[in-house]
Amino acid sequence: MLLVFGSVNLDIAFRADRLPAAGETVMGSGYLVSPGGKGANQAHAARLFGAPVTLAAAVGRDAFAEPALARLATAGCELGTVQRLDAPTGCAGIVVDARGENQIVVAPGANLALCSHHVDDATLATAHTVLLQMETDPAQNTVLLARARAAGCQTILNNAPARRLAPEVLALLDLLVVNETELAATLEGAGIQAEDARTQVEQVEMLAARFEMAVVLTLGAKGVLACAEGRVHEVASFPVDAVDTTGAGDTFTGVLAAARMEGQDWPLALRTAAAAAALACTKAGAQVAQPTRAEVNALLASSA
Ligand code: ADP
Repeated sequence: MLLVFGSVNLDIAFRADRLPAAGETVMGSGYLVSPGGKGANQAHAARLFGAPVTLAAAVGRDAFAEPALARLATAGCELGTVQRLDAPTGCAGIVVDARGENQIVVAPGANLALCSHHVDDATLATAHTVLLQMETDPAQNTVLLARARAAGCQTILNNAPARRLAPEVLALLDLLVVNETELAATLEGAGIQAEDARTQVEQVEMLAARFEMAVVLTLGAKGVLACAEGRVHEVASFPVDAVDTTGAGDTFTGVLAAARMEGQDWPLALRTAAAAAALACTKAGAQVAQPTRAEVNALLASSA
């Protein structure tokens, strides 16, 4: 089982001709309510790919909890570990203007009250892999990572949103997934200077070697660069008509975790995750846009 320990949000995205200035009210032309949060998005992506997924998360006892979790339930994620707490369900308020520029406020609410102890030892014992992001309390992530290591689980961290992770945290990982901004923050936290590692390949190799983990760097439309088990892998992105790259990284990370868990080797797992992420870019939204395993396999087969 893949245990995802992370955030659940309800995203409310307003469309307006222009973004409001300070103190101003503008009339919107419509709005879309959709489930989000990096933990939820990655759990959903892995589940659609076929992995057995348990989500450990926290929501409020409010009206937003149900719509935030609805797609996860429909997809068959195990939600028995989701906590209902006396804090509001995480919510992102988004305004998108006619040019596609946006303004976002995220109120994490209950997500920040998610604790390692919400995952009991029996649940952890049934997890093959544990996957975390940085939208919940970093201190609790560290505690859970240490417990997961001790329980013999594979540990994966997507350092998003970007944080400077302490070397002690990096030492708990089997796999780190980052985009370019997140790589820069990770290198800073690790104390790796530009003169130590100049190119992205050197940076990824150095992180991987120093912390004895695999490192996967996503490069948007430029694809993926990874270092795993002492080898560098470069994977091109799949050419698609991208309409919305929101959540591409979440789809990539969830599917990569699922593909590795079922035993795919690194080149295949990276290609599979890149195919899923490319498909997620062809539709608007996060979970709504994620592909099924059949769709991923069709894209892989068509470009073999
Ligand atoms: P994030 O969303 O976390 O910033 P990236 O933008 O690096 O992450 O995207 C994650 C992955 O999604 C990329 O490595 C790539 O495989 C895929 N991807 C992103 N944008 C595109 C695109 N325009 N076309 C095809 N694949 C894409």
